[in-house]
Amino acid sequence: VLEARNLAKAFGSNQVLRDIDIDIRRGQVVALIGPSGSGKTTVLRSLNGLEIPDAGTVTFGQGDASGELAIDFGAKVGKKEVAALRDRSAMVFQHYNLFPHMTVLKNIIEGPVQVQKRPKAEAIAEAERLLERVGLADKRDAYPFELSGGQQQRVGIVRALALKPQLLLFDEPTSALDPELVGDVLGVIKELAEEGWTMVIVTHELAFAQHVADEVIFMDGGVVVERGPAAEVLRAPRQERTKLFVKRLQ
Ligand code: ATP
Repeated sequence: VLEARNLAKAFGSNQVLRDIDIDIRRGQVVALIGPSGSGKTTVLRSLNGLEIPDAGTVTFGQGDASGELAIDFGAKVGKKEVAALRDRSAMVFQHYNLFPHMTVLKNIIEGPVQVQKRPKAEAIAEAERLLERVGLADKRDAYPFELSGGQQQRVGIVRALALKPQLLLFDEPTSALDPELVGDVLGVIKELAEEGWTMVIVTHELAFAQHVADEVIFMDGGVVVERGPAAEVLRAPRQERTKLFVKRLQ
């Protein structure tokens, strides 16, 4: 689905990403772990076009029916290319980022209708089906402030699914939730993994990562330190830095 090569990004003099390579195959679930400030969020935002790296390439959909999209951030990247990149993936945010003045339904259909120009009736039917799936059919006309954090995050997930992306990106989807609400959201993510969605999940929940991820990437200081099958990286890491990190979180 995706191949990213040599991504680099600096904010001022702060070199946040260096030479990041990431490969994601169709149906694969990749967990991105690492200490705070290691650049995980910036990687996700770069894959989604919310952040424009200074250098590197991202290629989506080699050999796909939907066609290939190759972007070289070293060259000038136009608005159209960024829009095309954004269309390939959908992001679920740590703080849900729902539009506060819109109902749940409106939040979900906004992207499909306004950006993707899909017929409204079709978008509504799809939104209702997805809400039903995550147990929130009765919240269709509620506003975000009327929902718990766990419910808001499930709406956040539905909003991402409604875009029918090739890749789902989760940025610490449970770290803002009260502990008793975490399970519901992780349960939904696990179901999506079983259904074959391709996903990258930034998470501090190592037990969950081991359970749901095919591959784990450990980042520290803006570089990929170690990657491999989840059980290997989390249970028998090769690098000292990974060992320390995993030990601290267990
Ligand atoms: P966390 O687990 O705390 O979310 P992270 O691994 O996701 O951390 P990033 O959020 O990618 O890390 O941040 C990496 C570095 O980039 C940090 O030093 C952060 O301060 C810096 N940074 C991120 N976004 C910006 C920005 N828009 N402007 C300036 N600096 C930024």
